[in-house]
Amino acid sequence: MAIERTFSIVKPDAVAKNLIGAIYSRFENAGLKIVASKMVHLSRAQAEGFYAEHKERPFFGALVDFMTSGPIMVQVLEGENAVLANREIMGATNPAEAARGTIRSDFANSIDENAVHGSDAVASAEREIAYFFTEEELCPRTR
Ligand code: ADP
Ligand code: MG
Repeated sequence: MAIERTFSIVKPDAVAKNLIGAIYSRFENAGLKIVASKMVHLSRAQAEGFYAEHKERPFFGALVDFMTSGPIMVQVLEGENAVLANREIMGATNPAEAARGTIRSDFANSIDENAVHGSDAVASAEREIAYFFTEEELCPRTR
């Protein structure tokens, strides 16, 4: 099994609901290690750049409004098959379709305010990690 890194966000809805610790527990319970973490309040330019792949989608403006509506936690998770493992514990984009026991099923109210972001592939994880963290900010976890 490959040790991977993935990029994760606790979105403004979940921070506002005081769910940072509950969501971090899901990562840790799944065997994912947090190797970098910080709270940030995105500017519109930062949010637009992060979600650039969605800029032609009808929900883009609402997505940027939401992602800039309050602080978020950004973190890098490390573990076996971390990208897919995180997508599995997150659940489907639409919480109404997310499997029971997933973060989005348990903590999200709607498709536009869905508690967490997680990279969808190793390549996007690398790009998203570099968007928020320098190499020096990633702490190797040897134990
Ligand atoms: P995911 O976050 O599961 O990777 P996408 O990359 O497809 O999902 O979309 C990015 C984010 O845009 C979603 O998490 C959600 O907040 C928002 N979004 C996606 N599709 C819709 C939609 N149909 N209506 C409103 N918001 C959406
Ligand atoms: Mg996505």
